[in-house]
Amino acid sequence: MPASPEKNLVTGGAGFVGSHLVDRLIKSGEKVICLDNFFTGSKENIEHWIGHPSFQLINHDVTEPIKLDVDRIWHLACPASPIHYQFNPIKTAKTSFLGTYNMLGLARRVGARILFASTSEVYGNPEIHPQPENYNGNVNPIGIRSCYDEGKRVAESLCYDYMRMHGLEIRIARIFNTYGPRMLLNDGRLISNLLVQSIHGKELTIYGNGNQTRSFCFIDDLIDGLTLLMNSSNIGPMNLGNPEELSILQVANLIRNSSIKKLNLKFSKELEDDPLRRKPSIDLAQKELNWKPKMMFNKGLEITREYFQNKLDLEKINN
Ligand code: NAD
Ligand code: UDP
Repeated sequence: MPASPEKNLVTGGAGFVGSHLVDRLIKSGEKVICLDNFFTGSKENIEHWIGHPSFQLINHDVTEPIKLDVDRIWHLACPASPIHYQFNPIKTAKTSFLGTYNMLGLARRVGARILFASTSEVYGNPEIHPQPENYNGNVNPIGIRSCYDEGKRVAESLCYDYMRMHGLEIRIARIFNTYGPRMLLNDGRLISNLLVQSIHGKELTIYGNGNQTRSFCFIDDLIDGLTLLMNSSNIGPMNLGNPEELSILQVANLIRNSSIKKLNLKFSKELEDDPLRRKPSIDLAQKELNWKPKMMFNKGLEITREYFQNKLDLEKINN
């Protein structure tokens, strides 16, 4: 008898990362329940699966408990872009704490393995560079990013306590900045802002002097990492990100140089508590999962630009 397909729950499955994960799981022959409250997610991201026998969509908020029969939980529900998670910071903290508590409770009840999508933001404004998993971070506990950063930190702590107290099978991924198709046009993050501005021939917005750095991972590479981690015996926390570090100015110049339009830069005040640099150490993921990102940044940018261009063209036709 062939083994029956895994039953997966993907919370935040209609969002950017979640919808790519749903694609990957269904294409691998698994069953997926996609759960989302559509705060930043969209039906468009998963509509190609509606009606498919392996796919089920549930409109639900993770801050409320739910009973489902599943083997694996991929807990991604939480807004990721600063403008979205700062829109209602109390709700963001509730989503991180209560949402994770509810999903851990569900995992415990049905004996499911649970992977929690944590973030490089747990390192805050890092004093150690690049950031290894054993660095405990430098987070402002009362700043405007803390609803997200501290929310993720307490959620990691909950995962570990469920493992220690109840023997739950947990996996924790610390995801670094990820980009690619299905980011929202109005997401407010660097890559979406700059690409959309470049398509419109507008000035590229730089917050602060642009010397702050980030490391950008293409979505397909991240999905490879997440699925490998879920299937591995390593609990994590494990960094998943691209170790190629770029300043914001370098990103802006790459986008400028690849555009046929003449683009100027527009500098404005730096954001509060904006981390100055960020680069993952991926030694652990390389050793344990034999994983490292493959996509070149130039190529990933081109694919993402094409996605935004098509989306804007469609919007024009529909208006
Ligand atoms: P996203 O905003 O596109 O997706 C989040 C999804 O969760 C959305 O579909 C949203 O509607 C849903 N959601 C939010 N609150 C919810 C709630 N209370 N109940 C049910 N659904 C809810 O963000 P993303 O970029 O896809 O991020 C997915 C996960 O990965 C998040 O947990 C985020 O913290 C983490 N992460 C992402 C990045 C990144 O660069 N994209 C980096 C680090 C960590
Ligand atoms: N940023 C910028 N212009 C923008 C959007 C973002 O200069 O239009 C900067 C932002 O200040 C930060 C970096 O780009 O230093 C990455 O921001 P993003 O919101 O993409 O990710 P996060 O800050 O969550 O890492």
